[in-house]
Amino acid sequence: MRALRLIADRKLELADVAAPPPPGADEVQVAIKAVAINHLDLWGYRGMAFTKRQLPLVVGAEAAGEIAAVGAGVSDLKVGDNVVMYGAKTCGVCPACREGRDNLCENVGGIMGFHIDGFARERVNMPARLLVPIPDGVSLRDAACAPIAFGTVEHMLFDNAKLKPGETILVHAGGSGIGSVAIKMAKALGCTVITTIGDDAKAEKAKVLGADHVINYRTERFEGVTRKLTAKKGVDVVFEHVGGEGFNASLLCLKRGGRLVTCGSTAGPTVTINLMQLFQQQYKILASFGCTLRNIRDSLSKMAAGMAPIIDTEVPLAEFEKGLARLESRQVFGKVIVTF
Ligand SMILES: [Zn+2]
Repeated sequence: MRALRLIADRKLELADVAAPPPPGADEVQVAIKAVAINHLDLWGYRGMAFTKRQLPLVVGAEAAGEIAAVGAGVSDLKVGDNVVMYGAKTCGVCPACREGRDNLCENVGGIMGFHIDGFARERVNMPARLLVPIPDGVSLRDAACAPIAFGTVEHMLFDNAKLKPGETILVHAGGSGIGSVAIKMAKALGCTVITTIGDDAKAEKAKVLGADHVINYRTERFEGVTRKLTAKKGVDVVFEHVGGEGFNASLLCLKRGGRLVTCGSTAGPTVTINLMQLFQQQYKILASFGCTLRNIRDSLSKMAAGMAPIIDTEVPLAEFEKGLARLESRQVFGKVIVTF
């Protein structure tokens, strides 16, 4: 079967590898149909210094597929069912997993496609408990965006930032995979959404998604515009995943006691924070990583109810690198999908 493997930094190969054995007890074999690309893939492709991994590594951290075989003891899933996969090998028995907090698993075996082999292959065996069925009416292509893009945003906005109807939120990088989802979810809740973009061509698209105000961060200081738009009060929540120099500017966008939720650092992982400002303004900085299985189920329910992901580009498996380049160029608006 075909598998797309990272063999060195910035070097992928489409290899012919042995198919997995029949699924064991409590396992399911999935025929992968669509993989969605994330910044995580870009980090892995570039070679992050602190990533412990062995090459070659099958890439792909977020995917959807169809069940091809089920192992002994699996009763709630059957051949032909469409499913998405949780993207990390969690243990299922530690206190965090038992509470449904798989993203806090004490014995996590690694993130698929990043630390351990991922989903960019024709077939994969997975523990049945890490699969989530795709509801009727949701395409495999859209569903492939549930485990990371939608799930991460669900976890950030609702479990961590506890976003409420009527609140005002600043969503960074509204054209990114998670930014575009955050705009949709916040609008669906009845929030006022301010978003940043880096290219005027994206402004109209962000408005179509529901953004009430769009700021081009390359031509205007977003913190100044945000304070103006909120009559100097600031926003209730900042949805952050950029980091770098913009992080402190993001804190300045918050109202007193406001919440900043972050899951990324695409512009740089290190910042200096003014602690006086932090405690006097009583900001809440909420760190978020990944999501729970429930977040994925809720995401798929939202898709079934009509909240589709924005798809920027679809590429075949052999052109995975083209998809990564699209993400890296920041020309992207929405998600890049790899089809099989
Ligand atoms: Zn666990």
